[in-house]
Amino acid sequence: MDTSKNQTVLVLNCGSSSLKFAIINPESGQQYLSGLAEALTLPEAQISWRFGEDGDKQKAALPSGADHTAALTFLEEQVLHGQQGLLDSLVAVGHRVVNGGEYFSEPVLVNDEVEQIIEKCIPLAPLHNPAHLLGIRAARRLFSSLPHVLVFDTAFHQTMPAAAFRYALPDELYHEHGVRRYGMHGTSHYYVAVKAAEWLGQPVEETNVITAHLGNGASVCAVKNGKSVDTSMGMTPLEGLMMGTRCGNVDPSIVFFMVDELGYTLDQVKDVLNKKSGLLGISGKTSDFRGITQGVEEGDENAKLAFDMFCYRLAKFIASYYVSLGRVDALVFTGGIGENSLMMRSRVLELLAPFGFVEDVKGNEAARFGNGGLITVADSAKAFVIPTNEELVIAQGAARFA
Ligand code: AMP
Repeated sequence: MDTSKNQTVLVLNCGSSSLKFAIINPESGQQYLSGLAEALTLPEAQISWRFGEDGDKQKAALPSGADHTAALTFLEEQVLHGQQGLLDSLVAVGHRVVNGGEYFSEPVLVNDEVEQIIEKCIPLAPLHNPAHLLGIRAARRLFSSLPHVLVFDTAFHQTMPAAAFRYALPDELYHEHGVRRYGMHGTSHYYVAVKAAEWLGQPVEETNVITAHLGNGASVCAVKNGKSVDTSMGMTPLEGLMMGTRCGNVDPSIVFFMVDELGYTLDQVKDVLNKKSGLLGISGKTSDFRGITQGVEEGDENAKLAFDMFCYRLAKFIASYYVSLGRVDALVFTGGIGENSLMMRSRVLELLAPFGFVEDVKGNEAARFGNGGLITVADSAKAFVIPTNEELVIAQGAARFA
């Protein structure tokens, strides 16, 4: 592969037990390498990768219990071994960080002080930020000649007004302890908002869209004149929409009820709300949206309820953002569910009929598996499917420092 004239960025996304990586050209978006290390810290830790956009998938077992550092070492020593052209093309490393609190509204070059701030933000993202730190520290050692840049999921939402980001809680919880809504999936909401403006043929600074990022985690965002003014996730990714295994909005008193009346420990409550609720909790079977829609088709009542709840709650959130935006130029669906589930999009547009949405059935059928498009008829309010590209936004953020 000829990468000699290329400038590329290594993009790293460390989850609690996984590490996604990619090498991409920040201008063209061309992907030269992509891969995933998973089951990290467990005996079955493994890594898989492919060169190019449709190269053969390769796989290897990592040593039992391998962590993010071991996975990155494998990437540097084994996967990239002999790939001199690709290594030479690297101009920066971009790291996805879930929560940068109020400290960062733009990508930032990593130094020791920035690492300390990420450490300080651990209470805001207890599962993610420690994994990010492992990845950042290992990558800084292994790719020491490159600038390392952090790109935050929360940054795009730093433009939310206080009326949207504050909780109606005592003031000191915010001012002394940072208890507020931060929002997540910022890189995705930003990317599809910019694309939507392009498709509408108008400057993003004058474009109002509602963006729905619907994957295992899911959030909606109200984007006014290109800036986030409200979003459904809160201080953590638990708030807002119903998700794969997360409950989204519930009455907080349910926590007291579970502890005081049912004898749950707080850890058990945390586990139920984060890992056993959402689509999984209601269907009793699966957190995977494909399983839910299959269940609906087979007449499974629990799957049908999970589907109905997911769509109803999503439509209610979207409707509420008409208040945030006043004028809405388009609604955008993205993420694994948003980009693929015709059935969900069709139902949500039906629920949003009072706002002027009319599905274009053929358009909806065509917008799947990586193909975007308009899914409403000519004189309807506009809804688009736009495949997201968070890696590209991270690569572009990092390339600014190259
Ligand atoms: P993500 O977190 O963005 O990778 O999205 C994962 C979610 O997308 C899972 O719930 C998948 O079931 C869902 N998904 C992926 N492909 C499809 C599809 N063809 N139809 C419906 N849902 C899908």
